[in-house]
Amino acid sequence: RAKLDGRGQVLFFNQKLHDELVHQHRLTDRLDQAIENHELLLHYQPQVSAYTGRIENLEALLRWEPRDGPPVSPAEFIPLAERSDLIHRISDWVIEEACRQRARWRDAGLALERIDVNFSGRQMNRPDVFQRFEECLQRHGLGPRDIGIELTENVLIDANERILSGLRRLHDRGFRIAIDDFGTGYSSLNYLKHFPVTALKIDRSFVRDAHNQPKDRAIMEATVFIGHRLGLEVVAEGVENSEQLELIREMRCDLVQGFYFFRPMGANEIERLLSGMVAGTKTLSS
Ligand code: C2E
Ligand code: MG
Ligand code: MG
Ligand code: MG
Repeated sequence: RAKLDGRGQVLFFNQKLHDELVHQHRLTDRLDQAIENHELLLHYQPQVSAYTGRIENLEALLRWEPRDGPPVSPAEFIPLAERSDLIHRISDWVIEEACRQRARWRDAGLALERIDVNFSGRQMNRPDVFQRFEECLQRHGLGPRDIGIELTENVLIDANERILSGLRRLHDRGFRIAIDDFGTGYSSLNYLKHFPVTALKIDRSFVRDAHNQPKDRAIMEATVFIGHRLGLEVVAEGVENSEQLELIREMRCDLVQGFYFFRPMGANEIERLLSGMVAGTKTLSS
């Protein structure tokens, strides 16, 4: 009965929710055409060493710029794509584009370590996800040092044996696997023991306030400690100012990513940045 009442309310009285559903529906329809219409592109955000400022690698971040409207955030359209097989077409496109770009930069002789790609939960459920990934790398003559993977904790928690052995295989062959938004998922520390990962990315919600919130600071310190004790690389994401950077360096995080250094940029901008630098070095301002 309660359920019925709830539904009645939603359907007949909640105009806002109704509008939101219509909006999502339209967006999904347009997203369905986005690949054919060449409306998707990748931006790249550098990750730099917290101590030398050297660019170590890039994170590929998907952008959707519809012809007939304003850009839509991946935080909005990825969850929509995940409701159907659309996520598979989009993920294929992302991996192909990241590989193509990595190979191009390699051929151009640009100093560059790696491009990391975000994998979503639904994407991992595809039985041939790893095979496709590896085929794509092979097609472009790329290896474990060229393309890395970012997964959220929840993806790992939900992972079945097929996914785990696929990740283990990649890990054994030297691929870098990072846990994204670390500390925000529904996870226990137990999984750090079993899952084949190489890096933790501390979520930016902790980084944002750590310089004046003791609890955020404590969580960050604990994450760096446990990460290093497990032999993992620790990355701080969302670094926006020098106070945050200062603290991150004190804590001995390895890498930082954030607007304080670089925003996500188009491929051309990255090329200018990398070719203007001596062996990929940028001096720290502080
Ligand atoms: P994420 O993987 O955690 O990516 C980091 C997000 O933080 C990016 O947002 C980036 O632009 C933003 N960011 C970086 N530095 C700063 C900073 O200093 N301050 C602030 N306020 N934000 C910063 P973006 O590009 O909007 O992406 C949002 C999320 O969408 C990503 O979070 C990721 O979960 C998802 N996403 C993006 N591209 C892809 C993709 O190709 N595939 C999948 N499955 N998900 C993607
Ligand atoms: Mg990410
Ligand atoms: Mg992240
Ligand atoms: Mg995030």
